[in-house]
Amino acid sequence: MAVLPIRITGDPVLHTPALPVDAIDDDVRALVDDMRETMLEAPGVGLAAPQVGVPLRIFVYGWADEDGVEHSGVAINPQLWITPPVPGTPDEDTESEGCLSIPGERFPLRRAESALLRAMDLDGTHYEVEAHGWLARIFQHEFDHLNGTLYADRLGAPHDKHVAKAIRKQGWGEPGSSWLPGVDHLED
Ligand code: ZN
Repeated sequence: MAVLPIRITGDPVLHTPALPVDAIDDDVRALVDDMRETMLEAPGVGLAAPQVGVPLRIFVYGWADEDGVEHSGVAINPQLWITPPVPGTPDEDTESEGCLSIPGERFPLRRAESALLRAMDLDGTHYEVEAHGWLARIFQHEFDHLNGTLYADRLGAPHDKHVAKAIRKQGWGEPGSSWLPGVDHLED
């Protein structure tokens, strides 16, 4: 197992749709192990394979809800259905999200309240999870990664301008930037 460098926005792998997994082999199992370790070290509540430079349709997630119940898993070749997001202005306190590929930044984004995830686990078993609230947000965020979409791409005014400015200021937005959890420390 190893902690992997996390690609930062601007790297083409983050902005390109990922490919389906053909076979769950030793390489895929090792990748998922490393993704879990990287997510925990970051720390984050979700991580998609393109974020570690692998253009495959895989994400891992791990999040404890307000009752302390742990929701975690791996989603291989996932499909996602969502309820229509309620129109309106997202709340800074309750709807701000971040991304390990735009480290240290958070911006509010309206998401669907509910989502249905269908995917395969590492045994190739199909499963589904009906999610609400923050878990539904995690699924939408990670699923977007597999389609080459970052949450920054979805932000409305004025947050779209603010995130673009933050990215420019950090010297990101071009290929070749990454950070290594546990080694590089982020400035908040
Ligand atoms: Zn992300």
